[in-house]
Amino acid sequence: YLLQLYQPLNIFGFVYRGVKEALIDMEKMFVLLGVDREIADKPGAQPLVVNGGEVRFEDVSFGYDPRRPILKGVSFTVPAGRTVAIVGPSGAGKSTLSRLLFRFYDASGGRILIDGQEISAVTQASLRAAIGIVPQDTVLFNDTIRYNVAYGRTDATQGEVEHAAALAHIDGFIAGLPDGWNTTVGERGLKLSGGEKQRVAIARTILKNPPILMFDEATSALDTHTEREIQRNLREVSRGRTTLIIAHRLSTVVDADEIIVLEEGRVRERGRHADLLAMGGAYAALWVRQQTADPAKDGVVSTQPQP
Ligand code: ADP
Ligand code: MG
Repeated sequence: YLLQLYQPLNIFGFVYRGVKEALIDMEKMFVLLGVDREIADKPGAQPLVVNGGEVRFEDVSFGYDPRRPILKGVSFTVPAGRTVAIVGPSGAGKSTLSRLLFRFYDASGGRILIDGQEISAVTQASLRAAIGIVPQDTVLFNDTIRYNVAYGRTDATQGEVEHAAALAHIDGFIAGLPDGWNTTVGERGLKLSGGEKQRVAIARTILKNPPILMFDEATSALDTHTEREIQRNLREVSRGRTTLIIAHRLSTVVDADEIIVLEEGRVRERGRHADLLAMGGAYAALWVRQQTADPAKDGVVSTQPQP
């Protein structure tokens, strides 16, 4: 009977550790992203059921401070499996759109829906499981490089982790580290460059394999050559997945099914690349500016990091 007494305790201990670890990781993520944990599941919230993964913003308004509106009635739809790109000047509210979709904050007006379900009505865990983000600034955990890549899916095999690393072009870099996959990175370990961190984030997302992808200037910190290669891989990864790309470099968005030009929290223009060029408006002006600014790098409007 000692065994009988012992086992339930063990089981409890195991479950408890699992839950606690998950909570700590969530907590870490919020702390690292500098986001307040003010959003909670509604009572009786149901898990999101993804069926294709259509993303829809309906007249969405939001301000971090209610006295200073940032998004002023933004509407767009990313049909299931399609790619929509958001471009526009720094401070327009592009990253804010991605934070609302991941529900770090709730919109103050309008609705955000995934396959017809309001994201504020489903569980956060199911919402976040469905979306893979490559953020503007990737924060690494103070742990091994393996942990940092596998964070996308903790039950992945080493083979799957290595495959994701190869697709994200970080495999060669890892092979050259003093302790390879076991090298400690992050605050108290090896410091990675912006481009290397971005590739870790891309590997994480590839590994997570979510139906909805969101890239926030995902390749902005990379040199042109690496960027081209990763873009090819991202195109491969995003094929058949709903993809939202926030981009400063317009070269990344020419193939998008729709391009949204966001200015001061409003949709100023929308359409495909060729249509927007033909319109001769804000997008066309931005395009011309980027082509002449720095043709070798396809032009960069701004690489200034955002909060
Ligand atoms: P973009 O990605 O288009 O450059 P953002 O969505 O990051 O723009 O920011 C839009 C506006 O919201 C900016 O004026 C920015 O200063 C402000 N902002 C962004 N994050 C926060 C925050 N956490 N608290 C307060 N204001 C913020
Ligand atoms: Mg931004």
